Amino acid sequence: MQRVYLDNNATTPVLPQVLDAMRPYFGEHFGNASSIHHHGQETRAAVERARENVAELLGCRSSEIVFTSGGTEADNLAIFGLAKPGDHIITSTIEHHAVMNACKHLEKSGCEVTSIPVDGRCQVDPDDVKRALRPNTKVITIMTANNETGVVQPVEEIGKIAAEADVYFHTDAVQAAGKIPIDVNKIGCDLLTISGHKIHASQGIGALYVRKGTLLEPMLYGGSHERSRRAGTENVPGIVALGKAAELARAAFERGDDKKMSEMRDRFEREVLSQVESAGVNGEGARRVPNTTNIYFDYIEGEALVIALDLKGLAVSTGAACSSGAIEPSHVLTAMGLRPDRARASIRFSLGKQNTPEDVDFALNLVPETVAHLRELSPLWAKNAVSR
Ligand code: PLP
Repeated sequence: MQRVYLDNNATTPVLPQVLDAMRPYFGEHFGNASSIHHHGQETRAAVERARENVAELLGCRSSEIVFTSGGTEADNLAIFGLAKPGDHIITSTIEHHAVMNACKHLEKSGCEVTSIPVDGRCQVDPDDVKRALRPNTKVITIMTANNETGVVQPVEEIGKIAAEADVYFHTDAVQAAGKIPIDVNKIGCDLLTISGHKIHASQGIGALYVRKGTLLEPMLYGGSHERSRRAGTENVPGIVALGKAAELARAAFERGDDKKMSEMRDRFEREVLSQVESAGVNGEGARRVPNTTNIYFDYIEGEALVIALDLKGLAVSTGAACSSGAIEPSHVLTAMGLRPDRARASIRFSLGKQNTPEDVDFALNLVPETVAHLRELSPLWAKNAVSR
């Protein structure tokens, strides 16, 4: 059975060049990067080369890159590393749980947290950020691109506000890295998170950019790895993979692959919307990363559509979370003001570097007919026939 994977915001396949680069570090080059002998020197050199590649992708110095176990750890390190009881944190209502739950935890232990709302297009208003500043504001943490809608936030404006107020600015760029060019100096952030498995490196590796001079309290206590900012023996194959993926991402921007990807995404969107009534794009009109579209199909349950498409070979996802047996609508879509039923009827399609125009054709062959079939089974669809 043919299978097409359009859930690249969940995770991406490791690219063949990335796998080739990392493979020797499981076998012949197995040294601990902290060892002073030949084996250690070999892996240390590979780690430092990867650090340079990641730094080049983000426009910073390699000494400002801290490798972590992934996006979640990098987000946690940025937030817990800066905020102390009594501090005020500004965040948004659409953050990934790695940021949102870190802030919730700090709220319980004596920090104040302000969550900035978004408009119907999933965008934070920088003026709201400015208005939320308090004398004890320590850090602003607002993502670069949202994982569910792909909407890009006005991070450069927020960076200016943070700099003027002398407040730290962290941005979770997990869903932006490799999709749109990132320059930490243009953004004006002090900390920025990326994750390997969202950019075709392996799972379990990430990095935090930490601007020189930022006083960050470590989360892990142990050896003096990563300039004492993150203790623990380095995940050398993962780091090599992230370095290679960063190098490939830069080359892809130079070739204009991002434009090709947005053309594929836009064609998919256009054709779905022309064939399916009572459907629309969440975040339409806002600047979005080129690989993501989030579409609502009124009168269906998103979970049912995901399962029906999976049975036909197409992997996509909903932003919904299943908690205590009930399907909760996505916090991102409800923050945008979507009714719960429309939020539950929304599906995310996200492209990766491995996807081809034929993959989009495959999806276009399945989505309209599957939506139509599910609607035929829906009493709501029949009931609303007149008003449609
Ligand atoms: N931040 C965002 C925006 C994400 O989409 C994700 C993963 O889905 C994370 C953070 C967490 O990254 P990781 O899976 O590497 O822990």
